[in-house]
Amino acid sequence: MQRYSALALIKQSLNGHKGWKPQWRDPEPKSSYDVIIIGGGGHGLGAAYYLAQKHGIRNVAVLEKGWIGGGNTGRNTTIIRSNYLFDESAALYDHALQMWEGLSQDLNYNVMFSQRGVLMVAHNVHDEQSFKRHVYANRLNGVDNEWLTPEQAKAFCPPLNIAPGMRHAVTGAALQRRAGTARHDAVAWGYARGADALGVDIIQNCEVTGIERDATGRVTGVQTTRGRIGARKIGVSAAGSTSLVMEMAGLRMPLESYPLQALVSEPVKPIFPCVVMSNTIHAYISQSDKGELVIGAGTDSYVSYSQRGALHIPMHTLEAICELFPIFRRMRMMRNWGGIVDVTPDRSPILGKTPVPGLYVNCGWGTGGFKATPGAADLLAYTIAKDEPHPINAPFNLERFGAGRLIDEAAAAAVAH
Ligand SMILES: Cc1cc2nc3c(=O)[nH]c(=O)nc-3n(C[C@H](O)[C@H](O)[C@H](O)COP(=O)(O)OP(=O)(O)OC[C@H]3O[C@@H](n4cnc5c(N)ncnc54)[C@H](O)[C@@H]3O)c2cc1C
Repeated sequence: MQRYSALALIKQSLNGHKGWKPQWRDPEPKSSYDVIIIGGGGHGLGAAYYLAQKHGIRNVAVLEKGWIGGGNTGRNTTIIRSNYLFDESAALYDHALQMWEGLSQDLNYNVMFSQRGVLMVAHNVHDEQSFKRHVYANRLNGVDNEWLTPEQAKAFCPPLNIAPGMRHAVTGAALQRRAGTARHDAVAWGYARGADALGVDIIQNCEVTGIERDATGRVTGVQTTRGRIGARKIGVSAAGSTSLVMEMAGLRMPLESYPLQALVSEPVKPIFPCVVMSNTIHAYISQSDKGELVIGAGTDSYVSYSQRGALHIPMHTLEAICELFPIFRRMRMMRNWGGIVDVTPDRSPILGKTPVPGLYVNCGWGTGGFKATPGAADLLAYTIAKDEPHPINAPFNLERFGAGRLIDEAAAAAVAH
């Protein structure tokens, strides 16, 4: 694999940057693999990378129906944090956050992870109680989170409006300093490049249309738009399309799929130093390195597989943003888009084995799985390689919905992300 470094950059600049090699191959599918991963988002590509890197399983293919990173990985607002309430969630999301901290070095690819801090603002007594409960629970789990007064919040994020008498007064905020953002495409591309270098085949424009099983029920391969491909094990990491893919193996998932939208403004000079989220008025905002304000809207209130949502949803979000940040009132919005998110009844993911031998699933990350990308990928690879869950993802099994052992993170994920 061609290493990226300052020296390589200088060398390439001398010949007009004509010597860079393609970052991954474009192979034809083989007739069979040890492991097939369905879905070329960050989670699926990462799982393939860790299967090869950590477990020595290199006869692996990632099958992607479109282009890699074209699903939610390339459509999300990239907020990364680990301040979830329950012990199981803190372990899961902080595992990912710790991996983010070394990801660029591990991949030799700049994923632009920026620990600029996530500020969750409170507007009423209920918010304060809920966020303080999160602060205390997080600290017990070794996850950083602290409570700020409105003045301290404004000092951390100067554009925040804390003027008395505003409709949604800011009464305090919870701050996770280690939280932040990353560059979404780079995550998919970095994992693709790393996996390809270890021998993984990344096959784009290859939609899985069926999952084959033998007389014992075990998976034997998949049917695709590029023909049949055999597999000893299959990992499904198809986000909003998970229910459809799992149905191919005869499994009905406890998931609902909704459109979730985001939008960006025209680019401006650096003005916004962190990420701010308001669950109550349903808005969150950060600024990309290009200068655009990146704004997350909510889910539509009906299920759908359409990758766009209703206009009133981002309009409502913009009203909230203008309330909190009056200085942005005259900014123009440049683009909005949607992705399909897979939501579980307890707003926590499903990551583990399934009742079908050889079939593993990673889904239900809903509106907030980008932050989990390295951790989810690592744990999916572990579960596939060992045929048993890692202790971190063991509680996030499919059986919990039958047993009633829910991990209800609806408060942590109310606005999601
Ligand atoms: C607007 C928006 C904002 C968000 N903001 C945040 C945020 O700020 N922070 C956060 O943590 N999370 C956020 N999320 C959620 C986050 O994007 C996802 O949870 C995460 O990216 C899921 O990654 P993935 O790799 O599992 O899925 P994806 O990137 O969606 O990858 C799944 C892939 O599977 C492919 N696929 C589906 N069916 C098939 C098939 N039959 N055959 C082959 N391939 C198939 C799809 O084409 C897709 O590329 C947001 C999501 C949206 C839509």
